[in-house]
Amino acid sequence: MKSGKGIMILALLFTFLITGCASEEDIVMAQSVSQQINGIGDVNLDKANAIYEVQKTYDALTDKQKKLVDNYQTLVGAVDMLEELIIEEEIKKDPTNTITKEELIGIWEDDDTSGTHRNYFYFTKEGYIYYMGSKSKAKQSDFTGEYIISTSFELGEYNRNTRVKDGKFYCIPKKTDYKFTVSKVASGEMTLEVLGGMAKGIYHKTGEKINTTPEQCLHSDCNKMAVDSGDSRYCEVHSNMCAICGCYINEDAMFCLNCIVEALRQSEEN
Ligand SMILES: [Zn+2]
Ligand SMILES: [Zn+2]
Repeated sequence: MKSGKGIMILALLFTFLITGCASEEDIVMAQSVSQQINGIGDVNLDKANAIYEVQKTYDALTDKQKKLVDNYQTLVGAVDMLEELIIEEEIKKDPTNTITKEELIGIWEDDDTSGTHRNYFYFTKEGYIYYMGSKSKAKQSDFTGEYIISTSFELGEYNRNTRVKDGKFYCIPKKTDYKFTVSKVASGEMTLEVLGGMAKGIYHKTGEKINTTPEQCLHSDCNKMAVDSGDSRYCEVHSNMCAICGCYINEDAMFCLNCIVEALRQSEEN
């Protein structure tokens, strides 16, 4: 016969067996915490204080009383879930989480002032990256074709463990991938860290205003503006089309930089 009373007696007996003789007070204390745990229900951020209160009450029990709390795992699960929700909330509010590729556009200066020159990176609107070492502060006009080291870069998802965004680019002269991270504080200031290679270090933007509006077509006597897509300093009429991808390129070119780099890369791999 399975009466409710029978089960209760069995439960008490079982409790007695695992805990030795529990006093009336122990049982009452444990039951009180047990009821509070049952009262938690679905976990959400509004319940944070209440959940931590229950945890505190449980922690204050004696070892004997703790053993009598039969739903402690429910509390453990609730605290875990709450902490997960808190992390999610922190990630949502973290300015680093909002960084876009567009925000990287600009000139980045090495924080290290100990050398005779400083390292500079210039991330362009097209996704190109230039690099140079310079004794004087680098300006946009200083970065000419010979300093280009990459024609595209990737910016990954928010990294939950390190609280930064990971990025990488293929460095053409070194024929290798370079990794970097970016982070942002509430004031909006960003930090770029280049993780390896000749330009390893921490960088901040110089504040140099980057002109991203198209300039006049370089073809002599042409008054039109240069195209603002692809890889050309010429207008629609005077630009060529890349023979591989079809984007705009300079009038004397056959392929865009991206396609040239991709071809180089594939010949490396084969
Ligand atoms: Zn033109
Ligand atoms: Zn192309």
